[in-house]
Amino acid sequence: MPSPTVVQVVVDKPLAQGFDYLWDKASLEVDPQIGHVVEVPFGRSSLVGVVIKVSAHSEYEIKKLRSVTNLAPLPPMDPAALRLMNFASQYYIHGLGETIIPAIPQMWKKPASWGKLSASLLAADLKKTKKKEVEKNLAEGYVSESDLNDVQLLALEQLKNFCTQEKFNAALLQGQTGSGKTAVFLHWLRALLSDNKSQALILVPEINLTPQLERRVRAYFPEKKMAVLHSGVSEKKRGTAWYEAITGEAQIILGTRLAALTPLPNLCAIVVDEEHDPSYKQQDGIRYSARDLAIWRAHDLKIPIVLSSATPSLETWIAAKAGRYQHLRLDQRAQGAALPKVHLLNMRDPQNQLSPGDKVKPGLNFSLSKPVIAAIQKSLDEKKQSLVLINRRGYAPVLNCSACSWLSKCHQCSSYMVMHKAGALGGKSVLSCHHCGLVKGIPKHCPDCGNADLKTLGQGTQKLEDAIEGWWPSARVLRVDTDSSRKSKGAEELFQAIHEGNVDIVVGTQMIAKGHDYQHVSLVAVLDADGRLFSQDFRAPERLFAQLVQVAGRAGRANKDGEYSGDIYIETQFPEAAVYQYLLRHDVDGFLSHLAAEREEAKLPPFCYQALVHAEARSLDKATRFLGKLKGRLQNKGLIGVGLKVYDPVPRSMMRVAGVERAQLLIESDDRKRLQMILEAIDGDLRSQSQGRISKDDRVRWLIERDPLTI
Ligand code: ADP
Ligand code: ZN
Ligand code: ZN
Repeated sequence: MPSPTVVQVVVDKPLAQGFDYLWDKASLEVDPQIGHVVEVPFGRSSLVGVVIKVSAHSEYEIKKLRSVTNLAPLPPMDPAALRLMNFASQYYIHGLGETIIPAIPQMWKKPASWGKLSASLLAADLKKTKKKEVEKNLAEGYVSESDLNDVQLLALEQLKNFCTQEKFNAALLQGQTGSGKTAVFLHWLRALLSDNKSQALILVPEINLTPQLERRVRAYFPEKKMAVLHSGVSEKKRGTAWYEAITGEAQIILGTRLAALTPLPNLCAIVVDEEHDPSYKQQDGIRYSARDLAIWRAHDLKIPIVLSSATPSLETWIAAKAGRYQHLRLDQRAQGAALPKVHLLNMRDPQNQLSPGDKVKPGLNFSLSKPVIAAIQKSLDEKKQSLVLINRRGYAPVLNCSACSWLSKCHQCSSYMVMHKAGALGGKSVLSCHHCGLVKGIPKHCPDCGNADLKTLGQGTQKLEDAIEGWWPSARVLRVDTDSSRKSKGAEELFQAIHEGNVDIVVGTQMIAKGHDYQHVSLVAVLDADGRLFSQDFRAPERLFAQLVQVAGRAGRANKDGEYSGDIYIETQFPEAAVYQYLLRHDVDGFLSHLAAEREEAKLPPFCYQALVHAEARSLDKATRFLGKLKGRLQNKGLIGVGLKVYDPVPRSMMRVAGVERAQLLIESDDRKRLQMILEAIDGDLRSQSQGRISKDDRVRWLIERDPLTI
């Protein structure tokens, strides 16, 4: 009797190892290969898994092994992709199966339709002989190489020299919004992708908000096939794009963080656009940083990677300053438009405040400073557009009883329920919790004292929209936030209206500031920036600065000759704060070196490495005690030594969400290896007393997070 073929398969379960199965060549028709996607029996049901080992032996009794039931019509994942998954699994302390399987699109995880899929893809293969020709010069935003300005040409030359094929090199391409970073890296990729096989991966933060980017990238590569991977496309489209990427059929892969783990057999260059963007961090399941994985991948494959940003993350900027990355600068706005003039409005100054006698709709406790009102008026007179930003959607962040101290708290979360006025989404005004999704009607009377006089506190986009419409009744006002974009065709339609000039004043959240070229905007006003100045999160100022610079980049693109071609107004109680002072001078590098000094002094990342152990339970006490006991065991085992700091367990800053209490244990080290060792020890310790990631005795759910972005 010939020796059996045994394969080890990993599945999407929080398990440290895979399981052995028999491979029946007669029924599966091919030999097994590492990277094959298969269906296997699991308990009383079946699961999709990936083959990670092939051998003739098993540690288990061969007779008791079950057989692989089905093979997906996919090529095996390539060895480099599996190395990447392995690294991600080890570094982020997450099972290999639960790292690989979630990266496969849903369409390929339904074995029942595998037979049909292969047939339909074959048909598609036959059809795809005709290629769509893109008229590249017609595409908005296409800049031919001969049109690049001197600064751009120099950067392109440096990139071409430095970031060449078959060598790991990382470059930071830093330049203001609109300086031509995209134009430069797309030309660089074009030069690199000279054959018709090589693949390039372009990672972008949130593609849904920038549909024109896709057309723009396409215009640079009219003869190549492009696959677009993000959560906004249909399951079928995404499944097809993924197939084209992993088979090497597509050469340009444009995607969000979820594209970072896509197998790309002929990958030869990577770009991470807006590399500082927090949306590169995955926030559930395996909590990876798509940017960091991309850098590891480039290093592993010995290929070049370009990180692009107007406001680099401190990590990347320091690496560039230290010479580990090439630092390329594009400090000049492409179309000659100068930077906008920044105005800091001290809201403690009564001159800036609206006085009670000023013309306001009765009962509308609306706040907009006098200079902003004057600037919007001027902009209207000049037939230019204004953007007014406030980082809160809804009508008002909280409802309050004027007689007692009742506030509209969410009973499931440690947060308030936000008031949404009728007309925005549905026909009724509601209170809604932005954390757990709970929706309630507006109480007619105070639930505590029965008083009928309930007032809103603060303002959100909806209230501001109302107020602005009341102030300028003939202006065309448009609200852009996730609520308004959920209606009809979504964000694209709203942005289109702005581009076409059908809007005078845009009221919106940060969403309006992302990656859009607005040609008619000359004024940006930011209303609630201070809220993020004093956050307990040490990264809050870095993020605020990046957002403000990005917002400032939206103003003044229309003017091609002026010194200052637009205005940005920031309402603040603390104009002396470093964030604002550096913004005033458009001094990105100054701000980053200020931050670097602060972090180094406080020994915070990137001058140390951090990880969190999260615990979630029905009571905070349970979650905290669970982590306290863990810390005790680490101490007893002598694992907490020099160069390693384990803090006491504390509640998370958002302590309660949807009725679940959350606590965390912060671990810090100045040495990555030491941190890795203790995290592995913690993982082993907790696994030994858990079912999956829930502790057996007290039912606490736990998770390890490496390099957390918010503490
Ligand atoms: P960034 O990526 O730095 O924001 P982009 O590459 O998107 O900059 O360029 C901003 C805008 O300026 C785009 O509309 C682009 O087409 C245009 N642009 C860039 N470089 C040039 C140039 N040399 N001549 C004309 N237009 C340019
Ligand atoms: Zn009351
Ligand atoms: Zn809630």
